[in-house]
Amino acid sequence: MPSYPLIGAHLSTSTGLAAMVRTAVEIGAACIQMFTASPQQWRDKRYAPAEVEAFRAALAETGVGPVASHESYLINLASGDPALLEKSRAAFVQEIARCGVLGLPMVIIHWGSYKGGTLEDGLARLAESLNRLIPLADDAGVQIVLETTAGQGSYLGGEFAQFPRLFDMVARQERLGVCLDTCHVFAAGYDLRTDEGYARTWAEFDRLIGIDRLRAMHLNDTEKLLASHADRHSNIGHGLLGAATFRRLLHDPRLRDVPKYLETPGGDDAYAADLLLLRELAA
Ligand SMILES: [Zn+2]
Ligand SMILES: [Zn+2]
Repeated sequence: MPSYPLIGAHLSTSTGLAAMVRTAVEIGAACIQMFTASPQQWRDKRYAPAEVEAFRAALAETGVGPVASHESYLINLASGDPALLEKSRAAFVQEIARCGVLGLPMVIIHWGSYKGGTLEDGLARLAESLNRLIPLADDAGVQIVLETTAGQGSYLGGEFAQFPRLFDMVARQERLGVCLDTCHVFAAGYDLRTDEGYARTWAEFDRLIGIDRLRAMHLNDTEKLLASHADRHSNIGHGLLGAATFRRLLHDPRLRDVPKYLETPGGDDAYAADLLLLRELAA
């Protein structure tokens, strides 16, 4: 396995779960993010016991992990549309169950959008969703991890200041984790490129959220400008963040034990190149 232990990628499950673990080893990914069902469909997915067993055996044999789930793109736990909100909560109950079956320790989620209503109402609906779902997640041994977003339009989660507002409305808020996406925070206005911006971003993150809540990171370079509120990932070193930003992150001792997942474009070959570059930057 790579000497820097916790850099991996979002991999496809299309060839099967055990094959995905072998792919991780081949491309040098130490940990995996995956969808437990199609991210563009509401349909639940059942895993055959033999497939789950082969998956768990492959993880144990290779030492790959942790494996994080990323929720479906359709789910909006903050929606002001009652039908969509109910559908989202029901789909998330199934997501938690799938994570439980597969033994995944965390599910990374987006905050959702308050389209057509107010930010305050959106936060309250998301908090209510979390109050219903956290007990189920606890029972399944899965931690819900909130991802920082680019803060585009009516999407929640772009400003760090929204985290304590949400946490205050969540009963078991200590059960929530946080995932920082490098592309998204840059798009939201946090400049990780400069000495001053890097220090200020993490000071604000720690003050408003707490670095101890950081359970995962998404390492993505970006095509979009600072504070553009636009989400367009690019390969490491090919975007506006640049290789130096990732070198700095990889040498930050506070982030050393946090699993880091690439969501960069181009598929497995591109991941291999990005992972190689990140390991060089980490050395
Ligand atoms: Zn995401
Ligand atoms: Zn993104």
